Amino acid sequence: MARTAQEIIALAEEQGVEFVTLQFTDIVGMVKNITFPVSQLPDCLDRGVWFDGSSIEGFARIAESDMYLAPDLDTYALIPWDQGAGFTTARMICDVYTPDGKPFAGDPRHILKSAIAEAAKMGYSYNVGPELEFFLFKPDANGNPAPIPHDAAGYFDVSTDQATHIRRHMVRALAAFGIRVEALHHEVAIGQHEIDFTYGPALQTADQAVTLRVALKAVAQQHSLYATFMPKPITGINGSGMHVHQSLSNIQTGQNIFYDGQDPYGLSQEARHFIAGLLAHARGMIAILAPLVNSYKRLVPGYEAPVYLSWGRTNRSALVRVPRISAGRPQSTRVELRCPDPACNPYLAFAVMLMAGLDGIRNKLPLPDAAEEDLYHINPSKRQFETLPGSLGEALDDLRRDEVITTALGAHVMDRFIEAKSQEWDEYRIFVSQWELDRYLPIF
Ligand code: GLU
Ligand code: MG
Repeated sequence: MARTAQEIIALAEEQGVEFVTLQFTDIVGMVKNITFPVSQLPDCLDRGVWFDGSSIEGFARIAESDMYLAPDLDTYALIPWDQGAGFTTARMICDVYTPDGKPFAGDPRHILKSAIAEAAKMGYSYNVGPELEFFLFKPDANGNPAPIPHDAAGYFDVSTDQATHIRRHMVRALAAFGIRVEALHHEVAIGQHEIDFTYGPALQTADQAVTLRVALKAVAQQHSLYATFMPKPITGINGSGMHVHQSLSNIQTGQNIFYDGQDPYGLSQEARHFIAGLLAHARGMIAILAPLVNSYKRLVPGYEAPVYLSWGRTNRSALVRVPRISAGRPQSTRVELRCPDPACNPYLAFAVMLMAGLDGIRNKLPLPDAAEEDLYHINPSKRQFETLPGSLGEALDDLRRDEVITTALGAHVMDRFIEAKSQEWDEYRIFVSQWELDRYLPIF
């Protein structure tokens, strides 16, 4: 439904749009925006909008601060909660350019577009479906976010689930952005939920994932709640993952190339190499997929999150799962990577996953046998799998060493990401916590 600038201007007029918000995403995955009155729209569509990139996290240095935003017209949508507040505001997601008209090397959308172009050269298009889990928390006495679960319900519960209507409001808000939800349910932990939307092309899906985070926070706020995508907000119960279903299709025919009916797992040779690529680069890309100090408190045994570098069908402790498909639906063949969490930057995450998988195909990486047993409870002496890194610090070391992943990100993003994240890790590493005081002070 590619729209022209003229059509956007006409549509905005017809809808009575008063303000236009241009959005983009910084390196750590935060959505940024700039808003202007609709009178500026023709100019903005003609020439883009200038902004100072130097004050955006990990974006640009002072010397290279001038950036300009070029809106992607296909992302035009009215912001539903603004409309509720009496303002008709349209938003568009943008690509970021440098003054000489080149795509900005620090724009995560550009990094994903480059990875998609690599896949296209090999004849593939890349489809993904992320499943973002989140918690709904009540505010503390001062109105600040606090880990106080909004209900005491669990997986698919009905009677104790207090959020059924909130989730439906969320689905309505997502629909306003053209996000088609497939399923919504309470998750395993108290106060935890999941809303899944349709599988689709990676760039559009990354746009939708960042939009979903913003929309869910806005709707929760309307109900005096706080929606959080923090990976492990509460010790001792499940954290929130962002499992990503993935497949490649033939760029000409649209046919899913992961399917092979002869294989016991229904997987083609390409799919097997792709999984091998995901396993081979799991340690190298995990800092992008699970980017917080807190992420590594989720990636521990016992909470349905992966730890071991293995794959299987039914096994939720595996890093990669191959979901069963319905008979006669080969198009839905896909592989699910379970280590990402919803605090990641979806553009960078999809870019590195794709490049990891393509590396597996290019180099015909062999896939080890599937592991179908519950790996959390297997006798450690029999467990021959490597594990994910145990901390952000370790993950950053692995990222620096992985050439496929660092190439996918490019020098600009790598430098800024490592700089920001090393600082975050160091701050945490030297902080004396309550746990240490409770544990050590009475004894030593
Ligand atoms: N919340 C779990 C995780 O951290 C996943 C639960 C599920 O299988 O949906 O990945
Ligand atoms: Mg889930």
